[in-house]
Amino acid sequence: MARIAFEALGHRYAGATLPALKPMDMVWEHAGAYALLGPSGCGKTTLLNIVSGLLRPSEGRVLFDGADVTALPTERRNVAQVFQFPVVYDTMTVRENLAFPLRNRGVPAAAARTRVERVAALLGLTARLDRRARNLGADEKQKISLGRGLVRDDVAAILFDEPLTVIDPHLKWELRSRLKELHRQVPTTMIYVTHDQTEALTFADRVVVMLDGEVVQIGTPEALFEHPAHRFVGHFIGSPGMNFLPCAISGREAVLPGGQRVALPRAYGPLAGTVELGIRPEFATMVAEGGLAARLRRVEDLGRRRIARLELDGVPVAATLPEGMPVPAEPRLAFDPARLHVYADGRLARGE
Ligand code: ATP
Repeated sequence: MARIAFEALGHRYAGATLPALKPMDMVWEHAGAYALLGPSGCGKTTLLNIVSGLLRPSEGRVLFDGADVTALPTERRNVAQVFQFPVVYDTMTVRENLAFPLRNRGVPAAAARTRVERVAALLGLTARLDRRARNLGADEKQKISLGRGLVRDDVAAILFDEPLTVIDPHLKWELRSRLKELHRQVPTTMIYVTHDQTEALTFADRVVVMLDGEVVQIGTPEALFEHPAHRFVGHFIGSPGMNFLPCAISGREAVLPGGQRVALPRAYGPLAGTVELGIRPEFATMVAEGGLAARLRRVEDLGRRRIARLELDGVPVAATLPEGMPVPAEPRLAFDPARLHVYADGRLARGE
């Protein structure tokens, strides 16, 4: 397994006006489980293809354990890949499909059998081992593809490109936790591309959030939730995402929509002009007394919690309606000041 480093890496497709990846420096540590997360078109697949060797970057270098692999083709990089759609040999049995990557590398039969059976057990394919792949459904074929990616233990990295797209939703949960379990048992550098935050947060130790060809934050799921470095991360991670309140700064205070003032969190240095205060719905609460007067648009009952959709002088805010609290006739909104973040031009302002 490898430590993967990018040096001034960037990519522009031939004829494109905008770069698909803006120049970046980044390191993915040895044996880390990384997710590349971001909306369609942000550059996730481009970055993954550069790691696998399917695409040669137009700028910069890629290093595996310090060795420059930028010009090496896929077959010389020792990476395993799992794609969105199944890649299986229909005429082979499940066992033969799983053993294929091992046979190719001359792994002795007994060792290969043990590994195939371990991966089959992990993916719930044991009872299918001697069935021909063509007789299986799309879910099971995709499990075979996953197994083929996971069966070798000598790869530099395993690259997953939206591997659970064709998998039935209830099975997705199970497979994600099995992948995570496998990573714990056999630590390997794993890179997992997805546009689904739940998938990224449950799989990865570190999530690489991308937007418009840029990495806007790399962090643990907890860090992305607690300290989004960019308003996009606050908005994209969480359900519902972070609220952003445009504010004018006056000394050490921010003037909220509606004119109320709140002290800036102490972590922030002096600021000027306009900023946005970011607060997650989990830390914005409806209260019976005090707080700020707001307008209630509706309440969403999510089963375990209720979300109040409010407006503060026309600015939409999602807040938590505490358990047992009746929907108030005159809604009031309170923030946990310790959970406020300040964003200037979309980025976390200085001081945090
Ligand atoms: P998705 O989730 O839809 O796969 P993505 O985050 O993987 O999106 P990329 O496929 O890497 O994004 O695309 C990044 C940018 O590069 C997009 O603007 C896309 O239109 C552009 N792009 C991708 N492939 C090519 C190509 N072969 N030629 C020209 N432009 C491309």
